[in-house]
Amino acid sequence: MIAENLRSIRGRLPQGVELVCVSKYHAVSQIKEAYDVGERVFGESHVQELLLKHQQLPDDVKWHFIGHLQTNKVRQIIPFVSLIHSVDSVRLMDEINRQAEKIGRVVDCLVEVRVAQEETKYGFLPGEVCEVLNESAVQQYPYIRFRGLMCMASNTDDVNRVVSDFNVLNDLFASLKHTTFSQSPAFDIRSMGMSGDWPLAVMHGSNMVRIGTAIFGERDYAR
Ligand SMILES: *Cc1c(COP(=O)(O)O)cnc(C)c1O
Repeated sequence: MIAENLRSIRGRLPQGVELVCVSKYHAVSQIKEAYDVGERVFGESHVQELLLKHQQLPDDVKWHFIGHLQTNKVRQIIPFVSLIHSVDSVRLMDEINRQAEKIGRVVDCLVEVRVAQEETKYGFLPGEVCEVLNESAVQQYPYIRFRGLMCMASNTDDVNRVVSDFNVLNDLFASLKHTTFSQSPAFDIRSMGMSGDWPLAVMHGSNMVRIGTAIFGERDYAR
């Protein structure tokens, strides 16, 4: 089933769009099924769960952190996390930089933007992002490599609204690419699109999709 779902998604995903298999709340055995058909990039949103799974799976897995990250838990994931998608406060940037410096590792990060008008509690407002990522601010964080932006679009069937959310991210990305990151080829990721909206996200500029349910099935939150 998992292998089949992946084959179907891989068949539709354009070249150049990276797939993050969102494995939160799913068992190690399910992750292993995806691993065995070649997947290496997995996304988790809770630190404890990530630590347990990291211990149980091979070292060549690239673990992405996609959930809200509490500053007091940063230290535990800094040694091995491959990309943090969800940098949503200056305090968190300070702590990531501090913990990364301690172990001499530069950590890849995305800045999360709150583009949806509802629900989502986390992320910088679109109007804050250019200030937060202005040139002198970014220079405060030598142990963070800023790789791009992440968002979750509005959870609605209204396609226009979802597209307009994606466009907010695209516009911010383009503007940063002309300013702070004009000399930074590594600033190249637009992480947007989930099970329900990834084809639309890809049509509208995404080059990294985070897909859980469409690969692993519904999550059992009571587990
Ligand atoms: C859970 C989660 C996803 C995956 O959602 P699905 O609808 O299961 O594909 C993607 N991004 C983030 C930030 C998530 O927390």
